[in-house]
Order: sequence, then structure tokens, then C-alpha cells
Amino acid sequence: MSVSQLAKSIAESPTLKLNEEARVLREKGEAVVHLGAGEPRNKAPISALLSAAAKLSTADIKYTPTDGIPSLKKAIVRYTEDNYDRLVAPENIIVSAGAKQSVYNVLYSIVNPQDEVIILAPYWVSYPEMVKMVYGVPVIVTPEDGGFYPRMEDVLKAVSSYTKAIIVNSPNNPSGVVYSADFIGQIVDFCEKKGIYVIMDDIYHKLVFDGKTVPNCFKYTSKDTESTHVVVINGVSKLYGMTGFRIGWAVASRELVSIMANVQGQITSCTAGLLQAAAEGALTGLQSAIESLRMTLENNRNVMMQELNSFKGVQCTKPNGTYYCLPDFRAYSQKSVELSQLLLKKALVVTVPGKEFGMEGHLRLSYAGSIKDITDGIARIKWALDPSSPNEIYIGDRKLVRDWL
Ligand code: PMP
Repeated sequence: MSVSQLAKSIAESPTLKLNEEARVLREKGEAVVHLGAGEPRNKAPISALLSAAAKLSTADIKYTPTDGIPSLKKAIVRYTEDNYDRLVAPENIIVSAGAKQSVYNVLYSIVNPQDEVIILAPYWVSYPEMVKMVYGVPVIVTPEDGGFYPRMEDVLKAVSSYTKAIIVNSPNNPSGVVYSADFIGQIVDFCEKKGIYVIMDDIYHKLVFDGKTVPNCFKYTSKDTESTHVVVINGVSKLYGMTGFRIGWAVASRELVSIMANVQGQITSCTAGLLQAAAEGALTGLQSAIESLRMTLENNRNVMMQELNSFKGVQCTKPNGTYYCLPDFRAYSQKSVELSQLLLKKALVVTVPGKEFGMEGHLRLSYAGSIKDITDGIARIKWALDPSSPNEIYIGDRKLVRDWL
């Protein structure tokens, strides 16, 4: 078959692939523990469902404006004012099919062939592939100390005359760390001076622990919304447990939003009106679901850290937000893809190899599932890797004996 060079060079999303593998194994009746999940267990808020149901009952489900229905955009205006202390106009907002499409639309709209986009490792798996999809060049900045906090001097070393944008994701998928206000301030200040776009992927911004707050990127720019190079990405997937609704948005200057609308209009026309109604319901309804999800995640994070701390050889930076942590398994294997495959095959635990996030030797573990998933999952990983752990384990109703260490 003849396919394009570009399409051929794009890797399959490893997280979506693992979700599918886990689903197939579960369907076969295997007792899989899914520590790979990028979605919470909570149900969509009732206000989202009622809003979608009301729309559905009109039986008037048609195309919507490309950039989103006015009432949802109004709710996003309020969200931006409440959370970022910035009053934007509806023309500064474009609604897309998930934050994923929002990030892609921004990149499509700003990157010329060979332009460079700086990505901070560890990074969300899709960024480098998306940059390649618009013929840009991903430039990865890896913290020199092997940790998860990039330093400004490392970022500056990666800047060239081709640098078009820097993507910042904090709280960070996959490490769970929250970048300091100092760092965000320096990045925004530098980029505004140089005319480089800062794409702030804030999709986890309310899911933070230990009393932390996430720095508001708009606080560090003196530019108004029409001249700023700060673009904020957000959506309903992660905060409201609405991953399947596929609604995200970007907040940017009117000029950039209108270009993005042209791009989106030629690709998907608009996102589904029914799902936009659901997102509007989530944003305008009771917000207590976010806090209860946040508290569940903080508690799960504590259990995950407790389990990992008793794991000889495994080091883990404590995450301050998101659903994830990124422990270092190099004491057991340098090759995270092989390690992740071994854990799935021998112990039926889904993990995501750190290599996919630019951190070889690590595994991304999600604590978005149940406490039992976390304790069973880590017990199985210990059994599979740690020779000092008991060599027998029950998985489902099967007793397994370790014979490979
Ligand atoms: N950004 C990051 C950092 C993410 O982790 C994800 C989802 N895994 C997204 C964006 C995309 O979210 P959405 O479901 O809104 O497309």
C-alpha cells in the first residue's frame, strides 16, 4: 500500500493502544489491573447530562458555528475570568474536539515547515507527533539532573531563530509535578519579549494536591489578550470525568482564533452540538464534583506513594497533581517498553513505558483507578520484579509462581 511519508512517520498513540490491549484482555476474562488509565472513574456531572438531554429532546441537532455555540463560549468566558482573572471576549475562544484537537489546531495555525517547537520532558506523548504532523521540528528539553523540573537555562539553550512555540504542561502528564510560579513567570516573560508562543496545556489545572495552586500564566504578561503570545488550552475531559464527550478549547488572540476556526472549519466543521451542550452544563452546574475528584486523587496518590516507597530500588518524585506518577525503575530495567510488556504478560498489569514520554527507564503509573487497583497493581509489580518478595501470588483465582528471577 502506498501511504505518505508523513503519515508513516507518525507513531501510534501508545496510551490508546494500551487501553485497547487492556480492554481486549478484560473481555477475555483476564484479571487485568489497569495502571495506564488517563481518565477518572467518576461519572459525568448530572448538569452535563440534563443539558445534553434537553438539547437532544429538541431533535434539532445541526451544525453549530465552527468555533462553538455562543452559550458554551459564554460559559468559557466566565471560566476564564474566574480561574485566570482575565476577561476575554467570545471571539478569543474556539471549542474543539477535546484539548487534543485544540493543541493540534494551534500548532497547525502557527508552525511553518522546519519551525521548531520546544517540548519539556517528560512530556505528553502526543506533542512531538503533532509537531511532526505540521512539518515542524520537536525540540526536546530534558532536565539535566534527570528530574522532572525543567530549568530556564536549559530552555534558553534550546531556543533558536526557528523557535516558534514552547509547550508547557503543568500539572504535568506524565510526572504529576507542578512547575513553580518562578519558572512559568520566566517562560512567559521571555516568550512575550521574543514573540514566541507559549502553549499552556492546563487540562489538569484544578487537580492539585497538598494545598498547592497552579500559577496563572496570564499573571506574568503585561500584554493584552490581542497581543499576547500566551495560548491557554483547557477542556472538560479531566476535571469533570467527561473524556468521552470530546470537548476542549483554546483561549488566544482574536486573530489566532479566527485562523484556527478556518483550519477547523475545513477539517471537522464544528464539534457536536449535543456534546457542547453537555460541556456547557458541566461548566455552569455545581462545581463540587471537581473538588471531590481532586480529594479522591490526592488520597489515591498517597496510597500509591506509600506502596512505591516500600518497593526496594524504585524511586519516585512525589506528584503534586494529575492522575499520574513516573517512578524510576532503572534498578530493574533500563528498557521501559520491555519492562511494561513483561508486566502485562506476567502480572497482567498495564503500565505505560516512560520512553514514550521522553523518560527511559521509568514507567507511568496512574492512580485514577480504585485503591484496590493501586495496591494489587503494585503488589503484582513487586512480585514480578523484586526477588525479595514472596514468589507466589494470586491473580484472579489463579495461583502463579515466579520462576524467572
Ligand atoms: N493534554 C494532556 C497533557 C493530556 O494528558 C490529555 C489527555 N490525556 C490531553 C491534553 C487531551 O485531552 P482531551 O481529552 O481534552 O483531548
